[in-house]
Amino acid sequence: MSLEFVLASHNAHKVREFQRIIGERMPQAVVLPYDGPEPVEEGVTFDENAFIKARTAAAHTGRIALADDSGLLVDVLGGAPGVFSARWAGRNASDEANVRLLLDQLGDMRRPHRGAEFHCTIALVVPEALLPGGHEFAAEGSWRGALAFEPRGSHGFGYDPIFEPEGVERTAAELAPEEKNAQSHRARAFAALLPELERVAGLVGG
Ligand code: IMP
Repeated sequence: MSLEFVLASHNAHKVREFQRIIGERMPQAVVLPYDGPEPVEEGVTFDENAFIKARTAAAHTGRIALADDSGLLVDVLGGAPGVFSARWAGRNASDEANVRLLLDQLGDMRRPHRGAEFHCTIALVVPEALLPGGHEFAAEGSWRGALAFEPRGSHGFGYDPIFEPEGVERTAAELAPEEKNAQSHRARAFAALLPELERVAGLVGG
C-alpha cells in the first residue's frame, strides 16, 4: 500500500529529520514538500500550531498533510520557551542567539535544576476531497534531558547543542543523526502517529 502526503514545514532541518524517520518506518510513503502559502502560527499550543499548518497545506494541495510543531520546555522556566522556541531571542533570531539567551537565563543554576524536555506534536489532516467529512488526528512525543552549560556538537539544529538527553553523556548535537532519530521527540511522535497513518492509507487507497 502506498501513501502520498505533503509535509508542511519550511524548516529544512526538520524536513530532513522527518524524511529519514519516515523513510525508515514507512518506506512505501512518498513525502512531498509543501511550497504553498505559509500560515501564521498564532496558536498558543503545539497542537493548535500543528493543525494550523497541516490544515493550510491540506486545503491548498488537496492532499493528506502532516505538520509538526515542536519546542523546548525548561522546567525552571515553567515550560518556556515552549511554543516560542524558534523566536525566543526575537523574531528571526538565529539558533545561536536563542541558545545564548537561554543559557544566560539559567546562569550557573546547578544540574539538578536544569531539567528540560523537547516536545513534538504532529498533526495529520485528510481533506474532504479524499475522505468524506475529512479527518484529523494528532500524535505527540517528548524527549527528557537537561541543559548543558555550554554548547557542544555540530549535528542537528536549534537547541541540540545544549540538550543532553537523559542517560546520554553527549548533547543531541553530538549524536549521529541516526542516533537522534532513534529516540527524539520527533521520532516518538511519528511512532505514535504511524498506526493512524497506515489506517488512513488503507481508507484513502494510497
Ligand atoms: P517550530 O518550527 O515553530 O515548530 O519551531 C521549533 C523550534 O523549536 C525550532 O526552531 C528549535 O528552536 C526548537 N526545536 C524543535 N525541535 C528541535 C530539535 O529536534 N532540536 C533542537 N531544537 C528543536
